[in-house]
Amino acid sequence: MILSADAVKGIARAIGFDAVGIAPAALLSDEVNHLRAWVAAGKHAGMGYMARNMEVRENPERLVPGAHSVVVTLTNYYNSSRQAEGIPQIAMYARGKDYHLVIKERLHALLQQLRELAPGMEGRCFVDSAPVLEHAWARRAGLGWQGKHTLLIRKGLGSYCFIGVAVITAEMDAYDAPFTASYCGTCARCVEACPTGALSPGEVDARKCLSYQTIENKGDYPEELKRLAGGRIFGCDACQEACPWNKELAEHSVADFRPSPEAMNLTAADWQAMTPARFKALFRDTPLERTGLERLKRNLG
Ligand code: SF4
Ligand code: SF4
Repeated sequence: MILSADAVKGIARAIGFDAVGIAPAALLSDEVNHLRAWVAAGKHAGMGYMARNMEVRENPERLVPGAHSVVVTLTNYYNSSRQAEGIPQIAMYARGKDYHLVIKERLHALLQQLRELAPGMEGRCFVDSAPVLEHAWARRAGLGWQGKHTLLIRKGLGSYCFIGVAVITAEMDAYDAPFTASYCGTCARCVEACPTGALSPGEVDARKCLSYQTIENKGDYPEELKRLAGGRIFGCDACQEACPWNKELAEHSVADFRPSPEAMNLTAADWQAMTPARFKALFRDTPLERTGLERLKRNLG
């Protein structure tokens, strides 16, 4: 079965995705070799899952037998409102409903409509899921380049985007060319802005990264890093805030990503006094729920 790439993209845009590209389901050998070197250097910190399933990451056929195409979507989550200075800070991506839930629902809607066009088509969708290299697929699908802060950048959308991936067995009548350029040039503002020195051009050392420490690290949070965190208790946007491609962006249009004003105005004292019941009421179905109240309190300066 061969689908029209224009038709697939039209459906994806109608569902609400801000950009869509389609890559052939080829091997990601170079990208996986780079990942292997990163893991071998220990830069994945405690994320043991990054060291597993390399063959699955490399070969989309291991995810969907008979895979022919990888449809990659971007969803803008940029929000120009800022939390007050001096209160505990939450990364922009985490201020509304959990993106896994929102993007997965949209990707399932996409798959459903593609199955109507191509009966018998098989497919699976992925959002920030361990066996899929989303950034690599986005670049392969022509959507942008990987900035020196390691995130995907697309002109006009910047890097405040969620990447969704659908691996499908249908072929396309046309594929996007991979994005081979980089528009970082001599800029290194993200590297200079990183509060902990976790970033070198194009590579992050998770052991020093505040996003890893505040969200993923279930063990001890080193005091010297906490001191550098500047009040960030869940994630860190410093490298994205510094990026010139993230200036003058359009606001996202996803109602589910709108934050609760109460949750965004919590002081350190509010966090210290927070009960599990209040935490649940304020943060149910947000990315903070998985990290949990106990670790968020640990993250307070
Ligand atoms: S998220 Fe923060 S700590 Fe991590 S690399 Fe970016 S600026 Fe550095
Ligand atoms: S801040 Fe500069 S170097 Fe870093 S990702 Fe943006 S453009 Fe590239």
